[in-house]
Amino acid sequence: MRIMPKTALISVSDKSGIVDFAKGLKKHGVKIISTGGTAKLLADSGVEIIEISEFTGFPEMLDGRVKTLHPRVHGGILNIRDNANHQATMKEYDLEDIDMVVVNLYPFEATVAKGAEHDEVVENIDIGGPSMIRSAAKNHKFVAVVVDNNDFGRILSEMDNGGTELDTRVDLARKAYSHTGVYDSIIASYFNKKLGVKFPEEIAIPARKKQPMRYGENPHQDSAFYVKPLVNEVSVATGKQLQGKELSFNNIVDIHATLELVKEFKEPAVAIIKHTNPCGCATGDNIYDAYLKALECDPVSAFGGIVGVNREVDKQLAEKLGELFLEVVLAPSFSDEAKAVFEAKKNLRLIELGDIYGQRDLELDIKNVTGGILLQDRDLHEIEDIRSLPVPTKRKPTDFEYKAMDFAWKVAKHVKSNAIVYTTDDRTIGVGAGQMSRVDSSKIAASKARAELKGTVMSSDAFFPFRDSIDEAAGRGITAIISPGGSIRDEEVIKAADEHGIAMVFTGVRHFKH
Ligand code: 5GP
Repeated sequence: MRIMPKTALISVSDKSGIVDFAKGLKKHGVKIISTGGTAKLLADSGVEIIEISEFTGFPEMLDGRVKTLHPRVHGGILNIRDNANHQATMKEYDLEDIDMVVVNLYPFEATVAKGAEHDEVVENIDIGGPSMIRSAAKNHKFVAVVVDNNDFGRILSEMDNGGTELDTRVDLARKAYSHTGVYDSIIASYFNKKLGVKFPEEIAIPARKKQPMRYGENPHQDSAFYVKPLVNEVSVATGKQLQGKELSFNNIVDIHATLELVKEFKEPAVAIIKHTNPCGCATGDNIYDAYLKALECDPVSAFGGIVGVNREVDKQLAEKLGELFLEVVLAPSFSDEAKAVFEAKKNLRLIELGDIYGQRDLELDIKNVTGGILLQDRDLHEIEDIRSLPVPTKRKPTDFEYKAMDFAWKVAKHVKSNAIVYTTDDRTIGVGAGQMSRVDSSKIAASKARAELKGTVMSSDAFFPFRDSIDEAAGRGITAIISPGGSIRDEEVIKAADEHGIAMVFTGVRHFKH
């Protein structure tokens, strides 16, 4: 059923394109009712309008808190046009139909983003706008609701063809409820953050589509990438793609994993990630040096990997990176010379992140299960001073071992459980990820090692349930082990370490990652 609106109510904060749209409505003889700022803009642009106060017979009052909250507005929108009782009421109170509502809301999000005080933020909670949007969307059978200025074109063209289609009005209603829903959920998350409420009674997590993905984790899965408003943290969502193929679903997941790992290090560091696990990670005097060491760990797996660095990529590193097939390189920045080098690698995605050490946000980790979601703190635990941790073994760690265990622990935190990582003080030697038994992870980590394992250290994301991994590691020449401790067989584990002359540190903290 096509409907040609006779009366439209326009009240918009984002006024882009509104004058042309109103002029388009006028071409079809639509009567336009409008509020304060919108009315002024339209009138100044030569569009004939009726002020809302004239329409309701009430002034806009209470500093604009009450402008359109009136039965003449809501009756005009909500009445069912083919319901005799409704029409009798409309007549009795001399109400008139409003067939189109064009509203977008007070810029709550922008007000918070600019750091406004609480009172100003609260003043930017739109009341009348969402009410009109919800009324109009409910009565979509007769009323068109427009919340997105990008819809102006399709509405005018349908009007050129005789009026808006029912399908279109239903679609506009769908968008409208998302719009007010996200708007309210942003307000709720503002309050939750302000009060430090991490796990409120109910949650609506606002997010906006950033880009459609070609597909999801696999080609038969459809996908899109959404970003959350009001998150003040540098991330894959804020990164700028400088060149290369479109990002894939898996790229985005891996970029996140890579960034989290390189952020562990203040000194120049490089991580090479495959399927969210590091196949090489190293620190160095400079980023080039760190890359060579990281690559040396497992150059076979590095093929098709994601490389993350925590310093600007310069020409020398760009040239070296160009020797390997990579999916993505991410960095705080790329020098102009480096960018020029990468130009030859058209498909390689470069992601420029800016200051990766900026503030963390009160963002939670979300895990989806069918029928529910789990929220938890992100695992941001860091060891402040490794030398203050308990050493349960007879032998105390050497300076080198302390440094190496510190490095190994930071890497293990970012390896899927069960995680076993062998390292020196500046590079991974072998990584065992995602096995169902810890001893298998130890064996795999050792079997992956290309360099000498003798004299390296081992980190384990969780406690050792048995002594087998210790024996396995000792057989390879590992001299020190960092793990959470806390197993009921700790004694057996410590005894094994003592037998082998291994020094151990217990962190008391676990880093499961599933
Ligand atoms: P204008 O710039 O036209 O003065 O104001 C437009 C904004 O006012 C729109 O974002 C609209 O959603 C909002 N608005 C319309 N009616 C009311 C109302 O009765 N109360 C409040 N708080 N906001 C309203």
